[in-house]
This record gives sequence, structure tokens and C-alpha cells, in this order.
Amino acid sequence: MAADGGRSTVRKRLGIGMTGETVHPAPTLIADAAIDGAERGLGRDHWHVWQHAKGGAIALCPLPGTDQFQVAAQYDAPDAVPNTSPEAVRQLIADRTHLAASDVREVRWASTFTPRAAMADRFRADRTFLIGDAAHIHSPAGGQGLNTSVQDAYNLGWKLGQVLRHGADPALLDSYEAERLPIATGVLGISTRIHRAHRAGDAEGRRRTSEVHQLGLSYRDGPLAVNERNDGDHRNQLGAGDRAPDAPCALPDGTPVRLFDVLRGPHFTLLVLGDAPPPAPDTDFGGLAPTLGTAGCVRTIRAGGPSPDLLDPDGHLTTTYGPAPALFLIRPDGYVCWTADGARVHPLLTR
Ligand SMILES: Cc1cc2nc3c(=O)[nH]c(=O)nc-3n(C[C@H](O)[C@H](O)[C@H](O)COP(=O)(O)OP(=O)(O)OC[C@H]3O[C@@H](n4cnc5c(N)ncnc54)[C@H](O)[C@@H]3O)c2cc1C
Repeated sequence: MAADGGRSTVRKRLGIGMTGETVHPAPTLIADAAIDGAERGLGRDHWHVWQHAKGGAIALCPLPGTDQFQVAAQYDAPDAVPNTSPEAVRQLIADRTHLAASDVREVRWASTFTPRAAMADRFRADRTFLIGDAAHIHSPAGGQGLNTSVQDAYNLGWKLGQVLRHGADPALLDSYEAERLPIATGVLGISTRIHRAHRAGDAEGRRRTSEVHQLGLSYRDGPLAVNERNDGDHRNQLGAGDRAPDAPCALPDGTPVRLFDVLRGPHFTLLVLGDAPPPAPDTDFGGLAPTLGTAGCVRTIRAGGPSPDLLDPDGHLTTTYGPAPALFLIRPDGYVCWTADGARVHPLLTR
């Protein structure tokens, strides 16, 4: 697994190209600095931004749990060459803010980057997989990079586990690129748009909408999504490929528990909503079972029926996942890969 960052040596050695564009030609300097600015109004509960500072915008972001601020200084001149020495960073802060160079007690480190948006031409070469910035780089605007990288790792991690330990079809590993490459494409678009709007002073364009939360990402069009649910409009219903949402529930003895805590672990969860008979051991989940390697890896959670594992006292589960009866096979990374509705539930589970 090549998780060696945007300049990935592994990617280069494999000869995998990066296709993309420069988001903005001018560099940005970033640094962590201890600044004694309380007496000059430099509070630690919000960011401080000098949008129209001479030479380029500068922002000081308090780093929680430290006495540091993260310094982010843009340059208006495309050919600017930032000086990252501690003295130069002190002077930069003094030049662009109301602070004095002597207020900057320590510059812990400083670096520069020129925002690019680019994606590896493929995420896999035989036994090697690219994840994180090695697979896609983009502007930090919107805060998408680390979140996307962690989800790459989560997506690939359980698939490797299923193939190496649980006899899943090795073709399962091809679904990593099939699922994550479209997500990376979307992230590149979002971060580039926010970055350019920011530089252009376009307040509306740089607004963070719910898309940056990454909670609405779906693999509906991917190879691991099988919908056998016909009891409503799929576009408005939770379907195969969607992220399985959380819901406050209760254990049979009334103890409150969150669905996420019930799902937690490297196994699949078959969530049985409503009154349905026990699942047949050979349920093939719409033909996905051999690919996923589900044999022995599925934990069944019954929410409803005569002996439920999970109660839904306030109806949150049914509101989100319903209508019941319905079945959801939830992957180890928390995405639904198969659904079936009431019409399918009984014959399928009693077979
Ligand atoms: C200013 C800035 C702000 C950001 N803010 C956010 C944010 O708010 N939210 C967000 O989600 N993302 C943010 N990001 C993006 C985020 O930092 C990256 O997307 C994320 O760090 C990528 O993780 P990674 O593990 O893929 O790569 P990296 O973090 O680059 O890690 C790669 C690691 O591999 C090591 N390495 C490289 N080559 C070798 C080798 N040959 N041998 C051994 N080790 C090697 C490197 O030393 C490094 O430790 C920001 C980025 C920047 C620049």
C-alpha cells in the first residue's frame, strides 16, 4: 500500500502518471508558530484573517491544545519565492498583520506548497495500491484531503482482509479503484472550486456546503451495490451503496445504544428491520456473497420481531431505514451493499 504522500516515490517508480492542473500559480507558505498576541486581541477561539494584506492574504489559526497558531500566507505574485526561515516568517507576520515580529516567540516549522489538483491515472498496479495523497492531490481548501485519505484506507483495508483471510474473490480488490476514483474526482472539483472562489473574494462560491462533510458520498453506481428493494422510490430511500446512517436505539433491556456501536468491527452486519424470519445460512445477497467473502463474517442484528437484538423506542431506525420489513447488508466500512424489502425478505430468509 503506497501511502507515501503527494510526491509518492512508489507511484513514480511504478510509472503511474498524475493528471491534473495547477489550481493557482502562486505559492502558499504554512508554518506553526507560538505567538504572544493575547494583549493585541489575538484570541484563541477563532481564526484571524487579513484578507487584503499587502502581498497576499494571511490567516492565523489557533491549534487546539497548544500555544501555537498555524500560519497560512498566500502570495499575490505568481513568481513569489517564499522564505521559510524563522526570521522571514516573523517578518512576514509583522508586515501583514498588526503584530510585531517580536510577538512571534517561536517558529516551529515552515513549508510551502503550490496548490495542484491531480489524480493518479490508476489506483492499482498488480499488488500495489495507491491511497491518500499518493493517489490524489488537491488544494487544502474545504479540508477534504485527510478525510478522503482515511476513507481510502478504510475502503481498501476491509477488502484486503476479506481476500487474505476470508476467501473472498480477489476481484473484490478491483472495486477499490472503481469506488474511490469517482470520489476523488469529486473532491478535486470541490476543493478547486472553493480555492478559486476564495482567491477571487467570491463569498458565495467559497461557502462550505454539506458536500464537504462527506456524509452523502455513495457507491450506488459501484460494483458492490445490489438493490433488491422495490417498495418505494430508491432515489429517496436508503439504498445499496449508501453510507449506513447512525440511529439512537436501545438494547432489549432498555439500555441506550447507538447503531454505530452495534455495527462497529471488521464484520458485515445484516440488519433485519421489522418482523422477519431468521436468515438462511446460504443467503447469497444478490450474488455478492462470493465476491465479498461473507461466509462466517456476517453478524445478524434483528430490530423487531419476537426476539429482537435491538429496540427502536423512538422510531429513529425505522424512519431512516424503513419501511419495515427490510434487510440491509452493511459492510465493515459502514456502507450498505445489499438491500431487500418486505416482498423479498420472507422467501429469501426462509429458503
Ligand atoms: C496546509 C494544509 C492544510 C490541510 N488541511 C486539511 C484539513 O483541514 N482537512 C483534511 O482532511 N485535509 C487537510 N489537508 C490535506 C491532508 O494533510 C492530506 O490530504 C493528508 O495528510 C494525506 O495523507 P497521506 O497519509 O496520504 O499523505 P501524507 O500526510 O503526505 O503522509 C505521507 C507520509 O509518507 C512518508 N513518506 C514519503 N515517502 C516515504 C518513503 N520513501 N519512505 C517512508 N516514508 C515515506 C512521509 O514522510 C509522510 O509522513 C491539508 C493539507 C495542507 C497542505
